[in-house]
Formats: sequence, C-alpha cells, structure tokens
Amino acid sequence: TTFEDLGLGPEILKALAESGYTHPTPIQAQAIPVVLMGRDVLGCAQTGTGKTASFTLPMIEILAAGRAKARMPRSLILAPTRELAAQVAENFDKYGKYHPLKKALIIGGESMSDQVALLDRGVDVLIATPGRLLDMFERGRILLNDVKVLVIDEADRMLDMGFIPDVEKIVGLLPKIRQTLFFSATMGPEIRRLADAFLMNPKEVKV
Ligand code: AMP
Repeated sequence: TTFEDLGLGPEILKALAESGYTHPTPIQAQAIPVVLMGRDVLGCAQTGTGKTASFTLPMIEILAAGRAKARMPRSLILAPTRELAAQVAENFDKYGKYHPLKKALIIGGESMSDQVALLDRGVDVLIATPGRLLDMFERGRILLNDVKVLVIDEADRMLDMGFIPDVEKIVGLLPKIRQTLFFSATMGPEIRRLADAFLMNPKEVKV
C-alpha cells in the first residue's frame, strides 16, 4: 500500500514525501480510507505505531474544504496531556504544510487571553486537554456546536488520569451528527462502554 492508494490528495502527498515517509504504517493503511469515507473509527493502537497521522492526515483532507467561524471550531481533538496535545499540533503543521488550516491549542498552564484571541479568529482544528476546554466553555469563550469531527486520543490514559467525567461532559456539548475517532492502547470494559456511547457503527482497527 502507498499513501496515494489511501485516497490522500496531492498537497498532503507532497508534505509526506518531504517528511521522508515512504509507506503508511498498518494503522494508517487501515484507518485513513475509513476516515476519508466519513465513518467512525475505534482504533486500538499504542504510541509509536503512527496512530497520530492515521487521524491527522485524513482530517487535513476533510477540513481543507470549508471555513471556520469565530469561536466555533470545526474539529476537536481531546488529548490527556499538554505534551501529547503539542505533538498532535506539530503533526498538523507538518502534514498540513500546503493546507492553510487554522489551529489552536487549549491546554492548562498557558495564557488564556492568547488562546481566546486565536479562537476569535476562527479555528479549523482545536486541540485541547479536557479540563481547560471545559473551563473555557463555561466562561463562554468557545462554542462547540460546529464541531464536525471529534478525536479522543489515548482514551485509556484519560481514564487513568480521572478525565472521563470531563470528557463525557464535553461530548454532551457536541452535535450528535458528527464523525468520531476514538483511540486507546487498551480496550477494557470501561473503555468499551465509552466507545459504545460516543461512536456510531464504528470500523474497528487494531494493530
Ligand atoms: P505516533 O504513533 O503517532 O506517536 O508516531 C510514532 C512515530 O512514527 C513518530 O515519530 C512519527 O513521526 C513516525 N511515523 C508516523 N507515520 C510514519 C510513516 N508512515 N513512516 C515512517 N514514520 C512514521
């Protein structure tokens, strides 16, 4: 399989070639066509398998069409830690080199006024940790009614860190009609329950 076979467009293929990736990893080969079709994904994959690009690449393609309104992000990626959120953001920058997507990071420990200024300019990709995002929502700084794609990354770590109540609150604020991509390294009963609650007829991918 090549990246071309997966249905990615020429701009992303160019960015991929420049980053030195020649072939998709197994999780990328399985997930990318499914995400491009608009289907939900339940992904069981560890860090190091290329799982980040398995959602960032097709999301760049999907979000390249359309335009963001102020304070209404078009997609949301929830990550358990600032470090992981920053990695996801770098991924979007690298592969989105030829797609001018607007991106914002909402993570604890950073100036809230800078984050609000970014939101006001309109955001295609919002990457957030759950606590800070809820805080911003409760202060009326952000609206979540326009989110068309939701990613929950490292769900099992969110569970370990006690973030699931916040995640459930956030998902309750999103449109019911949306695409959801849910990733976890492990699939215990509590993770399964969440996946059942958040996903609609997902394609399961496992590496
Ligand atoms: P991740 O599992 O998303 O944390 O990615 C693990 C590492 O693999 C990162 O350093 C990526 O830059 C790298 N990577 C992701 N996709 C590919 C690919 N198709 N070919 C080579 N390296 C990759």
